[in-house]
Amino acid sequence: MVYCDWVRVKWIRANQIRPHIPNLYTETGLVPIRYRRVTLTLKFLAYLLAQPPSAYVAAAYRDTLELATAGKPGWLSDLRRVLASLPSPVLVDAIDISDAAAVGALVKNVQLSCHTWLQGVIDVSPKTHLIRNRAQGSQPVSKFRQYLHVPDPKHRKALTRLLSSAHGLAVEKLRRVRDVHGGIIPRARRLCRFCELAVEDECHAMLDCRPNAQLLLLREAFLADVSVPIRGYAAATGGSNYGLLLCLVADPAVSRRLAKYVHELFCLFDDVALYRPPVLLLNAP
Ligand SMILES: [Zn+2]
Repeated sequence: MVYCDWVRVKWIRANQIRPHIPNLYTETGLVPIRYRRVTLTLKFLAYLLAQPPSAYVAAAYRDTLELATAGKPGWLSDLRRVLASLPSPVLVDAIDISDAAAVGALVKNVQLSCHTWLQGVIDVSPKTHLIRNRAQGSQPVSKFRQYLHVPDPKHRKALTRLLSSAHGLAVEKLRRVRDVHGGIIPRARRLCRFCELAVEDECHAMLDCRPNAQLLLLREAFLADVSVPIRGYAAATGGSNYGLLLCLVADPAVSRRLAKYVHELFCLFDDVALYRPPVLLLNAP
């Protein structure tokens, strides 16, 4: 098993979640194996181009380059095909593979392709809405996240599950449930088990829902503990609780306290059965 696969399995086991593959890369900084392989190949190409013309390996490379230039199959034409078949294609011309500096630029294009692909995936997946806006300015879309250092494993797993949409809130739990006719339960009908008024999603559970006294106590304690950093979010929240939630999950300074709150919240929700919409309602327009 290659190293990337080993880390992938370890991450899934440690966090006990259903894997959503892009999260493995955006949250750990691991490079997807197809990108890692092509990057290693390009670095070997840069090594070949740096060799003196008299070296055997340089002569072998010139032969390979002639084959590729003539449109014949070979190592370089395979490399071009692989680069063009990446999820975000990288196109190569003759100059790119005949100069060491140009190959360095090609490696950066491959990294950009990887980040473009990952961002594109999390931009459209309903399971990644909490993490899709973090890559702004100098912030990369993929890196090892601070919250994975939260020392308490229960708290760390809870926050990981929140960010991966691998939790037990109705918005996710009822996504996999079918009604009596085999149809999906619309998102608007995955209602909160406490108030039965709003969709039981992450923001509603953490910041909006009010009928449960224990939930209010947990929330008040959490908000009191993070009141100082919250003041700094004022301009970024847009005045909404969802905006506040996005700021909280993107701030490494509150990761430990946030993880504790999420763990307590999930325990509280797990103790109460899901609200299941009546069958007749499911079939209403
Ligand atoms: Zn509610």
